[in-house]
Amino acid sequence: VAVLAGGVGAARFLHGLVRLVPAADVTVIGNVGDDLEPYGLHVSPDIDTVLYTLAGLVDDERGWGIRGDSATALEQARALGAEAWFWLGDRDLGMHLARTERLRAGEPLSAATAALTHALGVEVTILPATDDRLRTMLATPDGELDFQTYYVRRQHRDDVLGIRFDGADEARPAPGVLAALAGADVVLVAPSNPFISIGPILAVPGIREALRARAARAVGVSPIVAGRALRGPAAAMLRTLGHAQTPVAVARLYRDFLGALVIDEADAGLAAAIEAEGVRAVVTDAVMRDADARRDVAAAALAAAGFAPVGHAP
Ligand code: GDP
Ligand code: CA
Repeated sequence: VAVLAGGVGAARFLHGLVRLVPAADVTVIGNVGDDLEPYGLHVSPDIDTVLYTLAGLVDDERGWGIRGDSATALEQARALGAEAWFWLGDRDLGMHLARTERLRAGEPLSAATAALTHALGVEVTILPATDDRLRTMLATPDGELDFQTYYVRRQHRDDVLGIRFDGADEARPAPGVLAALAGADVVLVAPSNPFISIGPILAVPGIREALRARAARAVGVSPIVAGRALRGPAAAMLRTLGHAQTPVAVARLYRDFLGALVIDEADAGLAAAIEAEGVRAVVTDAVMRDADARRDVAAAALAAAGFAPVGHAP
C-alpha cells in the first residue's frame, strides 16, 4: 500500500492503516515542501509528524512534535535575544541534528529518512517525494511568502492567491517512489491539504504521470468535512483560490488519477456531484476522533480500493 501524505491528517490516517495492514507493507510518499533550515538544521516537519506518530512519540493534543518534550534550547536562545519563531523541542532538535549530520556527510534525504525511521523502530517505509530541494511558496496580498513564514510565523492568516513549488521543475522523484506507485496494490491519498501537502508531491515531474498510469486508480480521503477543514487552512485556500469549499473540489483536483473519494456522512448529499467528476464517492464517518475512528477511516479507504485486509489482528 502506497500513501501520499502530508502532516497531521496523514499521520493519524496512517496510524489507523497500520492496524489493518502490516507496517512493512506500507510505503509513505511524504511532502518536503514545508522543509526549512533554521540555524542550518534540516527540518522536515511533515515527515517528522508521520514518523513521531508511527513511533508512538507524538504529542497527540497538538498532533505534531514529541509528547512531553522540553524547549530549553529554544527558551535560552530567546532569552539571549534570538527571535526563534519556529518551535523546536529539545528532543526534536536532536532529530534535526541527526538528520543534518547525515545530509552534511553527503547522504540524500531519502537515506537519512530511512536511517531515522529505522532508529525509531518504525517499519513503514517513508520516502520523501524528492531528494532535491523543493519549497512551497505562497502568493498573498503582502507578496510572496515562503511556507513556514506563511504558516507558522504569520499563522496562515494571509489570503493565499497562488502557489508555486520552487525547485519542482528540476526535482526528480526520490529512489523508490515511482516503483512504489507502479507496484502497489493500492495507492491512497491521505486526508491532507490538497494544495500544500499533496500538491508539492504531485509537482515532482513523473509522480502524477505514474499515478495516472496505474490500472487500479487511487483512493483518496477528503480533508474537507461539511465545508470545513478539521485543521489548517485547506478550506480557506479552496475559497481564495476559486474552488468550492467542498469535497467536490477535492475530487476535481485529483480526478485525473483518483477512482474513489471517501467523504464524511455530513457530505453525503454531494456524492452525485463527486460522481459527476468521474470519481466514486464512498460515504463514511470520516472524522478521526480517536484511534478506532482512524482505523475505520483507513478501512473504508482500503475497502473502496477493493482491498480487504485478512489475517491481521487489529
Ligand atoms: P499538516 O501538514 O499538518 O497541515 O497536515 P495535513 O495536510 O496532512 O493535514 C491537514 C488536513 O487534514 C486538514 O485539511 C484537515 O481537514 C485534515 N484532517 C485532519 N483531521 C482529519 C480527520 O479526522 N478526518 C478528515 N477527513 N480529515 C482530517
Ligand atoms: Ca504540512
